[in-house]
Amino acid sequence: MLDRPAHIDDMDETPATFTGNRGLDLEEPLLFEIGRIDATGVDVDEPPPAQTRLGGLERKGAIGLPGLTEPETMRHYVRLSRKNYSIDAGLYPLGSCTMKHNPRLNEKVARFDGFADAHPLQPVSTVQGALELMQTLSHWLMTLTNMHAVALSPKAGAHGELCGLMAIKAAIAAAGESETRNVVLIPQSAHGTNPASAAFLGFSVRVVPAAPDGTVRAEAVKEVIGPDVAAIMLTNPNTCGLFERDIVEIARVVHEAGGYFYCDGANFNAIAGVLRPGDFGIDAMHINLHKTFSTPHGGGGPGAGPVVLSERLAPFAPVPFIRREGETLRLVEHAEGTQSFGRMTAFHGQMGMFVRALAYMLAHGADGVAQASKDAVLAANYLRASLRDVMSQPFGDRVCMHEVLFDDAWLKGTGVTTLDFAKAMIDEGYHPMTIYFPLVVHGAMLIEPTESESKASLDLFIATLRDLAKSAHEGDAQRFAQAPRLAPRRRVDETLAARKPVLRWSAA
Ligand SMILES: *Cc1c(COP(=O)(O)O)cnc(C)c1O
Repeated sequence: MLDRPAHIDDMDETPATFTGNRGLDLEEPLLFEIGRIDATGVDVDEPPPAQTRLGGLERKGAIGLPGLTEPETMRHYVRLSRKNYSIDAGLYPLGSCTMKHNPRLNEKVARFDGFADAHPLQPVSTVQGALELMQTLSHWLMTLTNMHAVALSPKAGAHGELCGLMAIKAAIAAAGESETRNVVLIPQSAHGTNPASAAFLGFSVRVVPAAPDGTVRAEAVKEVIGPDVAAIMLTNPNTCGLFERDIVEIARVVHEAGGYFYCDGANFNAIAGVLRPGDFGIDAMHINLHKTFSTPHGGGGPGAGPVVLSERLAPFAPVPFIRREGETLRLVEHAEGTQSFGRMTAFHGQMGMFVRALAYMLAHGADGVAQASKDAVLAANYLRASLRDVMSQPFGDRVCMHEVLFDDAWLKGTGVTTLDFAKAMIDEGYHPMTIYFPLVVHGAMLIEPTESESKASLDLFIATLRDLAKSAHEGDAQRFAQAPRLAPRRRVDETLAARKPVLRWSAA
């Protein structure tokens, strides 16, 4: 007779089952806990005796890998994969992340042999089609943004920020102002990567305060601008989901002081095909292909953050870039007498992401890209209008862009926090929204439904949040304090996990 597995006793679940499984949601311990070190899953012949040339460094003891058979190993990983929540499983309302549907057409095209099997060290004469694709993607990106040049190689939004700031730094050095221009202006509500990118390059960060309506006013920029300012980094629409209405005037103020305008374009999903950031007067902007142009992302999985550049910054763009020479396309790998600041990555960037992004653009067409942006804004405002009588908005009753921001003022006196509310959503089968970001709002809840949810899906989500809000107001503290009640794991001590991470399994 087997006892109840030991790790199940640690779980305070209702109702408890003997196995720890809940229906067909199967419990799964670590590989090391199910496999036995002294058992072997495969039969491999003893290797023939050989003269060791490891100079006494060879392993003395057993390697200590858990022995599992192929079916046991298969089950382990399949069970784990079934615990993974994804956009293909349900609504994923994480604000700031743009978790939208990734059309399968993109996947199909990315798997064409000519793209999937190409190697970056192949002679360029054999990858002309791939270069043509990159050239076409560049054309779309420059046309959608009305910008002069594009650097495709950055591998994520944050990497794009670094690229744009490196171009700015190179331009400042070329003007002989490196000693004096070393401050980057960043609003309080900015994504954390903005100050991190600036600091990484040795700039110091000066904060631009936001107005009570959640946006940055040109007046506030005038207060902090000076001859020491290298650049401003501004996100539009900003991280509160609001359009920065002073952006053209801000660009003028920054340029007049001799600085550059870096626009964080992570929220391009709200305006692509409708507005061209180049018309705002910006000098550099990254585009998160994995957000706006729908390639799978999350969990650190591949992204791409091409940077569009103004005419002033174009000469400083990184290598490699593509040059058309007669009938053929060539990757320019070395600066070759240009003012290029150098290289961001080993090769030319994330080819798979380029293919997916262009497939998405071509499938939608220019009008379809604009429609997607408008639908994203419509969906966010539908949520806003459907929830504003039960949840509070921080900056008044203003129309939002592609994401809607609530604060926790409406939870006052209920004993329920933003975290409790988010955890209770898990019991209802929803991935929580982004919480406690942006930092400028108390108990922030940032919801981005994206354009790819149907009205029926939004209606069920709204009804669920309204039901939870009702419970909070009626004092049903249990539904929140205990949440998530139905997840494989309840609340974990996140602080302890961050301070004392256990990254290695040990037998003891
Ligand atoms: C996502 C995001 C970034 C960073 O992009 P990554 O691709 O995750 O590096 C930067 N700024 C904003 C506003 C974002 O939403």
